Amino acid sequence: MSITPPELRDGHGRRFEYLRLSLTDVCNFRCTYCLPNGYRKQAGQPAELSVDEIRRLVTAFAQLGLWKVRLTGGEPSLRPELIEIARTVAAVPGIRRLAMTTNGYRLAECAGDYVAAGIGALNVSIDSLDPQRFAAITGHDRLDNVVAGITTARAAGIGSVKLNAVLMRGINDDELERFIAFVSEHDLSLRFIEVMRTNDNPQFFADHHVAGAEMTRRLQGMGWSALPRVAGAGPAIEYAPPSGPGRIGIIAPYSKDFCTNCNRLRVSARGKLHLCLFGDSGIDLRPLLQSDDQQNDLIARIKALTATKALAHRLHQGDSGATPHLASIGG
Ligand code: SAM
Ligand code: SF4
Repeated sequence: MSITPPELRDGHGRRFEYLRLSLTDVCNFRCTYCLPNGYRKQAGQPAELSVDEIRRLVTAFAQLGLWKVRLTGGEPSLRPELIEIARTVAAVPGIRRLAMTTNGYRLAECAGDYVAAGIGALNVSIDSLDPQRFAAITGHDRLDNVVAGITTARAAGIGSVKLNAVLMRGINDDELERFIAFVSEHDLSLRFIEVMRTNDNPQFFADHHVAGAEMTRRLQGMGWSALPRVAGAGPAIEYAPPSGPGRIGIIAPYSKDFCTNCNRLRVSARGKLHLCLFGDSGIDLRPLLQSDDQQNDLIARIKALTATKALAHRLHQGDSGATPHLASIGG
């Protein structure tokens, strides 16, 4: 008799194999599209999830067939227990891939520790390859240090290192050729992310949003072509040059049918389940993370909530949900 592997599905038949887990809301950067005034502590906030709470959470998801976890934030590398959390998550039976998204601030010094803790994939945010622009976007004159961190991470044996660049009109949309030269020189994959509207950045969005399709047209004009989508892949459509190394992906949440292949769920640093980046304020799982005896209830709750996931976001109707900025739920 064959045993059917567990599956987590919503009411639209989409299967969820990937959890984005925020470790903290705290960030040391002040990216203009995310936290332009820097991180501000909110009074009365409960503590971030403990290592034990995270272990129970990820164990429940893994028992539902989820196999990939990405640590994010805020800036996950600022969480003092990062290494212990990574080791714990990587050791959960069923978790086959542990990734992290980072601004790269600590990468040059910590890459070896990340590999040893089980982090096998990194996405590093680099919104400009011009040092002055990088400083103006993030509030930190550290482009060289972040690039050095990427080199160190690859030398340390991180299996996959990808770059994220938020695409912004009038800020970095003239850097396509420079990014192409960089990814081909270093044999890297970079994804342009359309800037997304959040509750905190409507004016920034209005001033700087560029449709990903604009980049796609420019890439195609240079002979780049789309690669086939691989199973379990994220939302990026990836393009390759006519020959040679380097890949550019486009993440275009405003494009038609963007939500069709959604395969991810999110949990905030304080244990709220977000069925969509642009949904409501999240559903608190924390009361079910307090002891190992609650695992069955936790699993049942995650299953029931996932079943209710909406078919698509409502960005086109001007509704970006309850998210003040992406640092608050993990981007
Ligand atoms: N601090 C880490 C970093 O910047 O990589 C991880 C958290 S950050 C919220 C995750 C990703 O979301 C980053 O690549 C960031 O550039 C992206 N991001 C943040 N706000 C965004 C927005 N409004 N639109 C599009 N991407 C955004
Ligand atoms: Fe911090 Fe990342 Fe937001 Fe930039 S995008 S402010 S690095 S959380």
